[in-house]
Amino acid sequence: MRMYTSEITPEMDGKVVKLFGWVHEVRDHGGLIFLVLRDREGFAQITLPKKVVSKEVFNTARSLKRESVVAVEGKVKAEPKAPNGFEIIPDIITLLNEAEAPLPLEVTEKVPAELDTRLDYRFMDLRRPKVQAIFRIRHQVMQSVREFLSKEGFIEVNTPKIVSTATEGGTELFPISYFEKEAFLNQSPQLYKQVLMGAGFEKVFEIGPIFRAEEHNTTRHLNEAISIDIEMSFTDHEGVMGVLERLIAKICEDINQKCSKYLDLLGIKLEIPELPLPRITYEEALKMAKSKGEEIPWGEDLSLQALKAIGEEINGYYFIVDWPTDAKPFYVMPHENRPEISKSFDLMHSWLELASGAQRIHRYDVLVNRIKAKGLQPESFGFYLDAFRYGMPPHAGWGLGAERLLMSLLDLKNIREAVLFPRDRQRLVP
Ligand code: ATP
Ligand code: MG
Repeated sequence: MRMYTSEITPEMDGKVVKLFGWVHEVRDHGGLIFLVLRDREGFAQITLPKKVVSKEVFNTARSLKRESVVAVEGKVKAEPKAPNGFEIIPDIITLLNEAEAPLPLEVTEKVPAELDTRLDYRFMDLRRPKVQAIFRIRHQVMQSVREFLSKEGFIEVNTPKIVSTATEGGTELFPISYFEKEAFLNQSPQLYKQVLMGAGFEKVFEIGPIFRAEEHNTTRHLNEAISIDIEMSFTDHEGVMGVLERLIAKICEDINQKCSKYLDLLGIKLEIPELPLPRITYEEALKMAKSKGEEIPWGEDLSLQALKAIGEEINGYYFIVDWPTDAKPFYVMPHENRPEISKSFDLMHSWLELASGAQRIHRYDVLVNRIKAKGLQPESFGFYLDAFRYGMPPHAGWGLGAERLLMSLLDLKNIREAVLFPRDRQRLVP
């Protein structure tokens, strides 16, 4: 029976175990060989004193190339000097697949490599325990999202990624050919999740790819990202902000509880944010930025410099609310008493935008006017607009970038660290 390295303890002294994994390191001291075996859970020291193990096993160990795949069967021996307090004295070592040498990339943490090289040989890079830790935590984040939203009554849906209409009329779209028609990769599930409110689901969520033809190369933009989206009927922006902040707190709690091993590996201590999260208005944000020498004219989006200035003032998670209506997409609901600002919000972590959301316009005529005011053609939104003509409830929602969320949780400096195989302006392979 195969065991993981993490399942073995010094108390199992004398027990025979079988391990599978990679040859992380071989240290040959002549009469004594140390073989470090790595599996997805950690490491085990395989100790081969020449006088104790068979000649065949000793010679096999001596000839092993690093990163080869092996099976090791042997006895557990309690050894206070070994990592984790045990070593394995092997009876059998089977070479399952030999790795070529030299390796294209170091798996031990001894030689740091450039991110580009790491991404070129991502399959090797991903073997590094610290890199694996990111994706083990990512898995838990997704589990927590599904569990939390399901408990809150949301159902998971999937909407088309091949579409004929630009979500927000922007230019950041990848065109594709769809038989004899032109189509695009969807930049957001926005229109579809709103249509699903018209379909009577009331609470939906989607975890799926969004595609954005961003020309610029930044440490926080990808051309293919994963978005966690919700849409909810009979509520307003405040209602869905509540869902979002509770979700963030729940994710932090779950990660702390269930991923402490991986947090330790990454040297991260997660603080559970206190709720409700701080809220500042767009206008307060402008003032904070201005006090630090970053002046933004009213109505414009906050620049990265402005956000960095604000991020110096507010730590952790917070909302920026009441954005100018014209700075947001056509579907955001203006405030009744002050229509130049909208019932919209961004969730921030320091300077980084994690999510955008709003209460949506649910009245057909108002929506058509907003589409026109943005210089877009209502005709190209036919299927979307139809859903507003026959009983559309008031509704609100948000979209949360999964990779940005991971950046904020794990203090990653580049969004590419949070993606197995990132797509950016230069990178289409692997
Ligand atoms: P930004 O201003 O930071 O480029 P945005 O306002 O254009 O983001 P939204 O359309 O509001 O992005 O999308 C909702 C969320 O999806 C964002 O808050 C972010 O977390 C994520 N997201 C959007 N675009 C990207 C991208 N190119 N790469 C990674 N994540 C993205
Ligand atoms: Mg946004």
